[in-house]
Amino acid sequence: MAASLYRVRTGEGESARWAIRREGQFIEVETPLGDFPEADASSLSLGAPLEGVTEKDALAPADPTKIVCVGRNYRAHAEELGNAIPEEPLIFLKPPSALIGPGQAIHLPDQSEEVHHEAELAMVVGRRAKSVSAQRAHEFVAGYTCANDVTARDIQRREDKFSRAKGFDTFCPVGPTMALASEFEPAEHHVTCRVNGRDRQHAGLDDFIFPPAEIIEFVSHIMTLEPGDLVLTGTPSGVGPVEAGDTVDIAVDGIGTLRNPVVRHPADDVS
Ligand code: ZN
Repeated sequence: MAASLYRVRTGEGESARWAIRREGQFIEVETPLGDFPEADASSLSLGAPLEGVTEKDALAPADPTKIVCVGRNYRAHAEELGNAIPEEPLIFLKPPSALIGPGQAIHLPDQSEEVHHEAELAMVVGRRAKSVSAQRAHEFVAGYTCANDVTARDIQRREDKFSRAKGFDTFCPVGPTMALASEFEPAEHHVTCRVNGRDRQHAGLDDFIFPPAEIIEFVSHIMTLEPGDLVLTGTPSGVGPVEAGDTVDIAVDGIGTLRNPVVRHPADDVS
């Protein structure tokens, strides 16, 4: 059985723990080798049940020093938009301050009239990766999760830099679990986006222009990837707007459904 790992909060002042969910209970997964469980489901080292932990305690399954994103990475999407197939990955960064976990609200900023969802597969880096080849990339990826590369499309159209359009607080929902890389072959899975239960995006994870291993090779020859960093692999066709009151579901079979409500950014949010 493949394992989907949750990263959960266990109490005030406690550090996050990895856990699996079994019969409604969260059971700690021990990580003797470092920050990440380096095993497949059959050899996971399980600890005690985590008392009082529920689905509400699930955090984003990563704690990134940086979030690297790839633009225009689906053949059908590039063709649909009339964009040329890029010869190299087109990358940009989202700030770690944009990260939120499952269930947390996406805040629509006053500066934008048109905020879009972008359903994406994300890689969670498990080991420091510097100049690694595509052939060895799998050794550096701990697992895969769902991500929403939330984008202020009107700002993105106006500005040729992506930092503002993609960088607002709450613009990077991630989760709900991490599927172990040893057990998850992206090409065998699908990513979908539903808004209020209606289909918006649906694509097989075999339509990438640059597959995950090539992205790791490309990025790690530019910047060292640290454990906990996230690499988002691009969105398929069907991106569209979200409004306050919407519920956005990003799902990948084998990982689960990342659900986030959408709210207008509170006027006096100083937290
Ligand atoms: Zn994107």
